[in-house]
Amino acid sequence: MKEEKHISRRKFISTVSTATAAVVGAQFLGPLSLAETGPTPKGGKLALLGGKPVAPNKVWPKWPYVDEKIVARITDTVRSGKWCRIDNSNGNVTQFEHAFADLIGAKGCVCTGSGTQSLHTVVEAMGFGPGDEIITSPYTDMGTIQGILAARVLPVLADIEKDSFQIDPEDVERKITSHTVAIMPIHIMGQPCNMGRIMEIAEKHHLRVIEDACQAHLAEYKGKKVGTIGDAGCFSFQSSKVISCGEGGGITSNDLKLLDDCYTVQNHGTNRQGRSVTIGPKYRMNELEAAILLGQMEHAKEQNEIRNRNARYLYEKFKGFQGLVPQKLYEGTTNGSFYLYTWSFRDEYWDGITRDMFLKAVAAEGIGLSPYIKNGLHREPWTDNIISRKSYQAMYSPGRLQQFKEELTLPNCDWVCAHMVMLWASGPLLAETKDMDDVVNAVMKVYENRKELAQK
Ligand SMILES: *Cc1c(COP(=O)(O)O)cnc(C)c1O
Repeated sequence: MKEEKHISRRKFISTVSTATAAVVGAQFLGPLSLAETGPTPKGGKLALLGGKPVAPNKVWPKWPYVDEKIVARITDTVRSGKWCRIDNSNGNVTQFEHAFADLIGAKGCVCTGSGTQSLHTVVEAMGFGPGDEIITSPYTDMGTIQGILAARVLPVLADIEKDSFQIDPEDVERKITSHTVAIMPIHIMGQPCNMGRIMEIAEKHHLRVIEDACQAHLAEYKGKKVGTIGDAGCFSFQSSKVISCGEGGGITSNDLKLLDDCYTVQNHGTNRQGRSVTIGPKYRMNELEAAILLGQMEHAKEQNEIRNRNARYLYEKFKGFQGLVPQKLYEGTTNGSFYLYTWSFRDEYWDGITRDMFLKAVAAEGIGLSPYIKNGLHREPWTDNIISRKSYQAMYSPGRLQQFKEELTLPNCDWVCAHMVMLWASGPLLAETKDMDDVVNAVMKVYENRKELAQK
């Protein structure tokens, strides 16, 4: 990726209109309508070994998305001098909260300064604190865990599934103790996790569900958008995410009392009536951030359709190819977010080529793929840090903290970290079908030349 290109407005619209027909009602696990021929091979000498690259000087659509209307909204907001949400009861933040809730199909939304802040706000608003335990996944952004730690709650880690990369509901159930208060599942890569099983387990054990939907704007499970299935959903609007403003976050829910409590928490504990009633940090989104989000919102649905169309195309093309297996989508996945497009690398089909050699070779062909999370979060030093802290030692017994440590053996997460191959998709999946072919052809070229590469 040398430099990024803008997609012109006209080109963008024409891509959308051809995309829409193919995507409406797309059921990823349903019958296939596109060619079922599998990857198209493309031979020749590997670029890494001196050959011609498949996609020299590859440029992907630019992300984050910018247009003149967004620039105008920012300029207007700057000129207005109303930069804080409390300066204007129907300002950008309030307008965006309504628009985003409508888009997701939730009764309401409360914005904050980040996805991490949104997660922490919900944990506080639910009244959780020291002594409580929340079960989550180790295969996520550190913001998930920090949202729990900020309230001095114990994040208990359940393993993930090797084919979906999502939290394993059965391991969640095994990790429930008498102190468990909630489950925080993540819709990793932007596709729905197994919400059917998660909700069953939560109901059976009387637990609350806080969906980490920070990657999953517009993803849909059994006809419902993620972020509306559990008690609350948390979204991130950080630059890389598919609706973004640099740094920002939003909480969605159908529980208006919970949303009111979230408003209070993120407003330094001061409620909408101006009374300071509880513990709360100051996490308010500002009017400039929301100005960008209002502009981004205008294209979110169209962009989501294009990403789904391209993701579907890639799924079709890689069908039957055993060397790279795309992320499994659960039955009931009616729409994905495709913030990331991911595969697992299956060593047994590559004749001695490692995942990292593959990434190098495919990069030389002009296609930048990456390993994503290097180590599961159970392998990071925060686990020892909290165990050695007075606050955790005061609120959790030595036996509990020892058990916490012992349960950090999460082999599926380790396997996924070692085998992940991913495409940052916010921009790239907005490209055209021929760009998807570049991805397929680069991968297949490396595959065809694997034996020659292995000898180097
Ligand atoms: C990005 C992200 C977060 C944190 O969001 P920020 O806005 O960066 O604080 C949390 N969880 C997941 C899964 C994310 O991808």
